[in-house]
Amino acid sequence: MAAQPHVVIIGAGTLGICSAAALTAEGATVTVLDAQSIASGSSGRSVGVVGSQLTDPFEILLRVHSLRLLRQWEALGLGFNHIGYLRLARTAEQMELFARSVRIQEEAGLRSRVYGASELQQLVPHMSTDGLEGGLFGPDDGFLDPHEMCTFLAERVRAAGGTVHQFRRLLDVARRDGGYVLQTDKGAIECDVVINAAGAWAPAIARMFGQTLHVRPERHEAMLIHLDEPLGYTMPMVMDLVNGEGTGLNFRHESRTELITEIHKVDSLAPEDPDAYNDQCEEASKVMLAELLLERVPELPGARLGRGWAGLYPVTADHRPFVGPIDPSEPTLVTAAGAGGYGIQLAPVIGMLAADWVLKGAPVSIPGAEILAPTPDRNIASGGHA
Ligand SMILES: Cc1cc2nc3c(=O)[nH]c(=O)nc-3n(C[C@H](O)[C@H](O)[C@H](O)COP(=O)(O)OP(=O)(O)OC[C@H]3O[C@@H](n4cnc5c(N)ncnc54)[C@H](O)[C@@H]3O)c2cc1C
Repeated sequence: MAAQPHVVIIGAGTLGICSAAALTAEGATVTVLDAQSIASGSSGRSVGVVGSQLTDPFEILLRVHSLRLLRQWEALGLGFNHIGYLRLARTAEQMELFARSVRIQEEAGLRSRVYGASELQQLVPHMSTDGLEGGLFGPDDGFLDPHEMCTFLAERVRAAGGTVHQFRRLLDVARRDGGYVLQTDKGAIECDVVINAAGAWAPAIARMFGQTLHVRPERHEAMLIHLDEPLGYTMPMVMDLVNGEGTGLNFRHESRTELITEIHKVDSLAPEDPDAYNDQCEEASKVMLAELLLERVPELPGARLGRGWAGLYPVTADHRPFVGPIDPSEPTLVTAAGAGGYGIQLAPVIGMLAADWVLKGAPVSIPGAEILAPTPDRNIASGGHA
């Protein structure tokens, strides 16, 4: 491979753009292609929450790296709303996992604290604590606008000499000596390396290279809640789900008189066609969201359902992203896809690891990150539970 290879990245969602940013920072020549506009896929339909209030040490470690990068970008002008993230616990066992999470996060330099049920109203005065043991709260977590994140990073890619093409679709691929000829709807592009960061479309891109990639597009919905008056405090991100247990209800501040809410479903959903799915929130989902919200925060002033929408989680069988080559004998074809419901918060670290694979042949920045490669034991059809 050339010392500074020409890398083409398919997809200008968070994973593709973060991969491009990591590669241009290392001096690689990068071209990003998107069939539509920047962040027009799942990234632009997400609710943009970023946080590290988890219990699995490796999952926390990944977010430590993402948060470090996001902090650097924030210092350069990226908006990041630090509203805090509260994960709710229903059992004593979950509280023990939370206490361990605090220790892991503290060692990594992140602030986090366990709250007992009687303390939760300090964070969310409107919260009903029925059925709760307590929560895990990270005051520095929050949300960002994924459109803004992608356009901010695309500008940095361009400033570093990279190219970001919108409305340029990959149609077909031919291998040539030491690289690829990519046929697009606006002419051919030659390159040394390809990163497949096409989200829900990543399996279709893999097929163009004669490979099989198991990423399952699952439909998820979100909705705005309008309030008659400001709450008088900032609603943090509140999540009722610990390792697949809980309702999956979550909600957060959007503006002084608006919340965003969704249900992070844990049951596997039927796969959708990314080019033909219902991108609106269904009435039944709105009713279910409203009922769950009424139970958890019953006295919200004049809460009314607002606009809803749906998008796709690109999901893998084990609910961890794919970063690395499918075929180790073809290291010039790297996958960065399958981030499920976490592709905003994981995108910075996935981009960093994808760049490692391209430039160093292994994910050297994080010990143990080779487990994210789409090896035959992981790259399998899914259908089970989260
Ligand atoms: C309702 C909802 C809420 C969510 N909330 C959160 C959250 O709070 N926090 C979080 O971390 N994650 C969240 N997610 C998940 C997150 O949005 C995704 O994991 C993430 O956006 C995936 O990014 P991506 O770059 O892999 O894919 P995408 O953003 O879909 O990007 C793939 C791109 O590839 C392009 N493409 C496809 N085919 C071609 C082709 N042939 N040629 C060129 N380009 C092509 C597409 O146009 C698209 O822009 C949420 C998702 C949904 C649906």
